[in-house]
Amino acid sequence: MSVLTRDRDLPVVSRSGMAALDYSPRGPSRARILVVEDETDIADLVRHALERDGHGPVEVVTTGDEALRSAIDWRPDLIVLDLNLPVLSGFDVCRILRARPGTSSIPIVILTARAAETDRVSGLDLGADDFITKPFSLRELTARVRAVLRRARAEVEPPSAVYEGPLLRADFEGVAISVAGRPVDLTRREFDLLRCLVENRNRVLTRGRLLERVWGHDRPVEDRSVDVHMGRLRAKLGPAAVQIETVIGIGYRFTDQ
Ligand code: CA
Repeated sequence: MSVLTRDRDLPVVSRSGMAALDYSPRGPSRARILVVEDETDIADLVRHALERDGHGPVEVVTTGDEALRSAIDWRPDLIVLDLNLPVLSGFDVCRILRARPGTSSIPIVILTARAAETDRVSGLDLGADDFITKPFSLRELTARVRAVLRRARAEVEPPSAVYEGPLLRADFEGVAISVAGRPVDLTRREFDLLRCLVENRNRVLTRGRLLERVWGHDRPVEDRSVDVHMGRLRAKLGPAAVQIETVIGIGYRFTDQ
């Protein structure tokens, strides 16, 4: 029985095939996870995969209002949230959870059959931490969940004021940026942009997010301003600029390698 890929003619993950996948339980990263998915066969596979990856308890709910209730009462460590839900959509659930003080910081991984970039952007703008498009592999899902949990746990500690990469050294407190030992002069905006990218490394930042964090009230009319400043920042960083990736149609990501 193929479940995860029934919408399209793509490689199939079947129940019998699941046993062949490599799952390694990771005790220390065990998390309480809420799975919100109205298609119960997909929900079962997702729950099973997360449990095999060492998480638990994993609770499954099938509607948006149950999701809200469970998130508020049970306080999971992470939520896997389908977007296409009856009555209350995953977008609504995400928006409501982000607006409530008790649930605003619970990491959310969105699961959806809608592949349109606008969905990805609005999901990330609403504060979702990651995004997986159906059909997906269970291995991809568990890897993303692990990465989001790791990041959420790291965020509890204050970000270090000094970043040291292979070429780039950025001392955000001392306002000293260098590439391969040579000082680099950045404008205030470029400095703030770099800081925002580094502090959110390995995470996609939409242009909207960057405008909000770096420009704030001085937000320019054009989203293109982000690209213009990013171009200047990259030029100044020279060889270290490879760490800034363009995520086409969405925004930018600073990567560690
Ligand atoms: Ca659904």
